[in-house]
Amino acid sequence: MIDPGVLQASSDALIAVVVAVPVALVAVGAVLATRRRGAGRDEATPSTGGGVATVSATAPTGAPAEAPAEAPPAGEAGTPVVAEPASYQGRLGKARGLLSGYIGAVRARARIDAGTWDELEEALIRADVGVGATDALLEDLRGRVKAGEITDTDALVDALKADLVAMLDTGASGLPDVGADRPPPGDDGVERTVDVWLFVGVNGVGKTTTVGKVATRLTRAGTPVLLAAGDTFRAAAGEQLQLWAERSGADIVRGAEGGDPSSVVFDAVQRAASRGVPLVLADTAGRLHNKVNLIKELEKIRRVSDRPPGHVAEVLLVLDATTGQNGLAQAKVFLDAVDVSGVVLTKLDGTAKGGIVVAIQRELGLPVKLVGLGEGADDLVDFDPQAFVDALF
Ligand code: GDP
Repeated sequence: MIDPGVLQASSDALIAVVVAVPVALVAVGAVLATRRRGAGRDEATPSTGGGVATVSATAPTGAPAEAPAEAPPAGEAGTPVVAEPASYQGRLGKARGLLSGYIGAVRARARIDAGTWDELEEALIRADVGVGATDALLEDLRGRVKAGEITDTDALVDALKADLVAMLDTGASGLPDVGADRPPPGDDGVERTVDVWLFVGVNGVGKTTTVGKVATRLTRAGTPVLLAAGDTFRAAAGEQLQLWAERSGADIVRGAEGGDPSSVVFDAVQRAASRGVPLVLADTAGRLHNKVNLIKELEKIRRVSDRPPGHVAEVLLVLDATTGQNGLAQAKVFLDAVDVSGVVLTKLDGTAKGGIVVAIQRELGLPVKLVGLGEGADDLVDFDPQAFVDALF
């Protein structure tokens, strides 16, 4: 039988896509039109950079992507064709496709003029960089052109890349250290021996998958972890996490469907402490009956997780890069509920336009720590601003 929760979640997602895509397209057009009117000009769009968003038709299954069952096919010289590791260059092809038309057009201009600025502005807005960050970037570049520091369009694009890298470099990317900065024992003298990382975010953004990927990475590196299946709202989430636990060799605590997620995380912390496991990775539900319930639930999970021997070391907000600026609005609900320490940006390999990373760091003031470049266990990588910007351009 099909779980009604899954049906509801799917229809929520469908509604979100149907509403969000036209709204986003109209919004980009409106932003640019208003800005152009203000500037009193209207340049043509470069033909290769139209930037029409497409929506992936693949239904999310959520199960860990399987390793190929058979040996990979032999290459021409008889050597096996090994699956490419997740790289920014290899996985950001779609985002690059969107930007390259504009950037190519800018580079091809004989000199820096009004049309150049329009093209750059349109490229950044369409790439989801956001109005605030676009203005900041263009203001800096305009100043440097005026000062004679930048004199041609190639140098202008290179300066834009360097500015983007500088804007994105928070020095806080990557997996946090386990066991660092543990506070002193609680009032009852109980030592804190278990870090808890909470994964929060809207349904379908990739929380469960991310927990599984992080578990794989850490167990492989020799750090034992315990998974807490705190998304008791969605029956499939527990099963999905169970699969990840089996694949990665991590222990897991699951609760009853519809059960209290805080008690799942509480049990997980107790079990981790008794087995000497230093880290609990806790999945949470992204959709409850209403926003107030969601916030209350997350506050409670956090409180319970922070009781010795537990210590909430990270709250990672998982965002789906393909939802663009809409994802930012959703994120704010979670920021109201819990102190978020960083962002995991998933699905950058999909139809995401990339610039959303800039908007997140600037508008939410949060570092992007990890990014998802695919559904497989190895497709979660540390956010690397230089590699990211190089791949985008
Ligand atoms: P949750 O509801 O937030 O726990 O979301 P899930 O972990 O169930 O993920 C929803 C869907 O997104 C699943 O089909 C995942 O395989 C997929 N997904 C998660 N991360 C990525 C990613 O980085 N790239 C791609 N292409 N798909 C992803």
